[in-house]
Amino acid sequence: MLSTLIYRSHICDDVPLKEIEEMVASANKKNELFDVTGILLFNGTHFFQLLEGPEKAVSNIYDRIYEDSRHHNIVELMRDYAPERRFGNLGMELFDLREHDRDSVLRAVLSKGTSTYQLTYDDRALGFLRTFVEATEKETYYEIPLPGHWVFARDDDAAVKTAEVPDESADCRFAFQPVVDPFAREIVALEALIRSPEGGLSEHYLANLPPERLYEVDLSSKAQAFAMAKRLDIGEQTLTVNLLPMSLVMVPNAVERLLQGIQDGGLVPEQIIVEFTEKQVISRLDEFGAAIRQMKAAGISLGIDDFGAGFAGLQLLTRFQPDRIKINRSIISDVHRSGPRQAIVHAIIRCCTSLEIGLTASGVEKPEEWMWLEAAGISTFQGFLFAEPVLNGIPPVAWPDNK
Ligand code: C2E
Ligand code: MN
Ligand code: MN
Repeated sequence: MLSTLIYRSHICDDVPLKEIEEMVASANKKNELFDVTGILLFNGTHFFQLLEGPEKAVSNIYDRIYEDSRHHNIVELMRDYAPERRFGNLGMELFDLREHDRDSVLRAVLSKGTSTYQLTYDDRALGFLRTFVEATEKETYYEIPLPGHWVFARDDDAAVKTAEVPDESADCRFAFQPVVDPFAREIVALEALIRSPEGGLSEHYLANLPPERLYEVDLSSKAQAFAMAKRLDIGEQTLTVNLLPMSLVMVPNAVERLLQGIQDGGLVPEQIIVEFTEKQVISRLDEFGAAIRQMKAAGISLGIDDFGAGFAGLQLLTRFQPDRIKINRSIISDVHRSGPRQAIVHAIIRCCTSLEIGLTASGVEKPEEWMWLEAAGISTFQGFLFAEPVLNGIPPVAWPDNK
């Protein structure tokens, strides 16, 4: 099937224009071999390339282009299918936008077009092309530093902080993972993640519970989390715990019991965030809403987890205004490479800014993901890049240092 791929990228400082022409010439030979055509626009600092051809060939060529060290900040804007080639002349045409004046440049680009209809009717590819030519995308295209720019180092004296578990006979434990503000070098919260006594992961632990005990165990386990937090001496630190929405709805006196656990742990409700994942919230909206009011009235904050992974997404915010939202890893992962993910993050940021909702990116594993998200306006992060959860303990944070 004929497929289309569009990306934009930033030329590396030390690449002379002459080299680009040579690069295009040699790329053309390969492209021709694989029946890939298209157009490459250059504006002095950025490339914009549209590749058209058989799906596999386009994908392979893009993978190779991505590895080319002569450009960086490569963002994939579109992958789609089309009935015919928009720029089907043999090979890849290099088009230097600087050689044309502003008013005629788009027309000049379009004069290279070969498709019958796509360049006349509303076409997404053409939309991207126009935006690049008119340079109206600047606001959302960030120049993030190269990956090696940052080193992530733990403080010399930093060690895992552990404590004796409060109740050896309890059938669950907790691992703690910091949520951090890297530029402020501050741990803004700790998240308590449930584990089996041997350290088995949350999902496995919860899936192995008999269904009739699930909600009760989920709720009562929180007392362990609060008691462990006390032993770990978290002080005034914000503590996040996870709950199934139905644990709050179905377990009698759920909020009272949470409050008792908080008090026994020497904590106050105002420092606690209870986090629910978006997917589960949506399936029981009405019952959940009632339980939440009680929780909020007691001073506990509401967090929505895995935001963007469920079905309702932003529409959820018409029903609830959580205090905090965590963007799911599926959107965060490789966000620096993906136009669609970037657009979603921008939309979430705009919504949360308007509603004064705190925003955290979770599952951050790469420095580039973090850098892109900082540039977009997010300042709190959770992920292996900074610290992995530690059973019965709190890990030290790897803070970024500017080399
Ligand atoms: P979550 O609340 O979104 O918690 C974050 C999960 O992502 C944790 O997995 C954590 O280890 C993992 N994670 C953190 N940073 C990274 C990263 O950079 N990369 C990757 N690949 N993963 C990362 P964990 O502990 O297995 O928890 C999975 C889920 O289980 C949690 O997701 C939460 O929804 C649920 N859960 C955890 N504890 C409880 C609990 O006490 N009650 C209930 N109902 N659910 C819980
Ligand atoms: Mn969570
Ligand atoms: Mn999650």
